[in-house]
Amino acid sequence: MATGWGSLLQDEQQLEELARQAVDRALAEGVLLRTSQEPSSSDVVSYAPFTLFPSLVPSALLEQAYAVQMDFNMLVDAVSQNAAFLEQTLSSTIKRDNFTARLFDIYKQVLKEGIAQTVFLGLNRSDYMFQRNADGSPVLKQIEINTISASFGGLASRTPAVHRHVLNVLSKTKEAAKILSNNPSKGLAQGITKAWELYGSANALVLLIAQEKERNIFDQRAIENELLAQNIHVIRRRFEDVSEKGSLDQNRRLFMDDQEVAVVYFRDGYMPSQYSVQNWEARLLLERSCAIKCPDIATQLAGTKKVQQELSRMGVLEMLLPGQPETVARLRATFAGLYSLDMGEEGDQAITEALAAPSQFVLKPQREGGGNNLYGEEMVRALERLKDSEERASYILMEKIEPEPFGNCLLRPGTPVRVVQCISELGIFGVYVRQGKTLVMNKHVGHLLRTKAIEHADGGVAAGVAVLDNPYPV
Ligand code: ADP
Ligand code: MG
Repeated sequence: MATGWGSLLQDEQQLEELARQAVDRALAEGVLLRTSQEPSSSDVVSYAPFTLFPSLVPSALLEQAYAVQMDFNMLVDAVSQNAAFLEQTLSSTIKRDNFTARLFDIYKQVLKEGIAQTVFLGLNRSDYMFQRNADGSPVLKQIEINTISASFGGLASRTPAVHRHVLNVLSKTKEAAKILSNNPSKGLAQGITKAWELYGSANALVLLIAQEKERNIFDQRAIENELLAQNIHVIRRRFEDVSEKGSLDQNRRLFMDDQEVAVVYFRDGYMPSQYSVQNWEARLLLERSCAIKCPDIATQLAGTKKVQQELSRMGVLEMLLPGQPETVARLRATFAGLYSLDMGEEGDQAITEALAAPSQFVLKPQREGGGNNLYGEEMVRALERLKDSEERASYILMEKIEPEPFGNCLLRPGTPVRVVQCISELGIFGVYVRQGKTLVMNKHVGHLLRTKAIEHADGGVAAGVAVLDNPYPV
């Protein structure tokens, strides 16, 4: 059983019976999504897609990913406070990428006016794949870090019971006991709670910026529920509501429907399509306030692909985290090859290499949410088109990670049970809180494993490509 569940995957009838059991347990545990037909209502729901079996993950890599999470928290926090680095890093990108430019405009406006916020809250998720080395051994390589709206911390706490159930049905009780317990939403809520306490106003609320059509509401509710248990009230509002009913007082305290807001938690606002003119105005209002934004605009910018690429440049980690060589070494060990496409020799060289070996690279624009990256033929066409244009600076190139595929069943409403070749992506949730210059909380709070069929190059669970999974440590 080196990479999978072996003969268990061959008995079709058994797989179907197991799948029926797994789906019913998933529904009972609350592994839920609203349907694509009715994304604004919870009247009809279904299960969030998931794997029939937990996927094998080397324990050493799981431990490594956990161990480096506090370093990533510190790194993101350092980048977000370094205006010179952000400005220099994003200067070529914002000339060609309108979305990043709009975010950057808000950042500059807030800097100019003076940042009213004194407490900072980071809830992020660092994602990795397991690169197959030349000798066949797997190595942990970071795909990206999500600093805004990192999701599935709620549902990820419900899936261990489902995989334990499947293994128990097979009388594999020892194996079932190896499935790790996991509760990211509790940890994320602890971060929000800490920030709320430091804000220091007993009646102030948490404002969750929500989308009107939100299939993943149960994931968000898991965090809301944890907060309510601490007697912290959450209101869900859209950007449109903020622009109609949000206001600042003379001390730049934020009020929504006349109630003071301590923490603004964004589960919206990471894609261009989520912003109308009105929504950009609402975002600016929120950023100008002294409420604790999660993330503040600087931390959102710190999560861009361009920043990720610049962090891999020689000497940059040392500059951002001075006197911390061990932290730097841990971080760097997880970096894949990342290449700037800015105009000039370095960018020309990267393009030449990618055109010579397209299967080894991924072309990434400054986007979040899945489905935006270009691979293979599509990447070649894009590079040919962009080669001589300054527009290329709005992209980065990345080494393509090639994990070892394995067999599993991806269970989705309305699709037959069958074994497909898959690869996984591991995410670790990180939480930090900073008050002024002092980091008062820095921790990892759980994991998320997502698995997809190898024929899909891109896309997460929300994009309908990957499904929820659990690591089975080996
Ligand atoms: P997004 O912000 O849209 O989530 P990601 O950088 O996470 O962008 O890429 C989306 C998906 O594309 C990932 O979940 C992963 O499946 C795939 N992917 C991204 N980068 C790589 C890479 N370097 N090698 C292989 N697959 C990748
Ligand atoms: Mg991603």
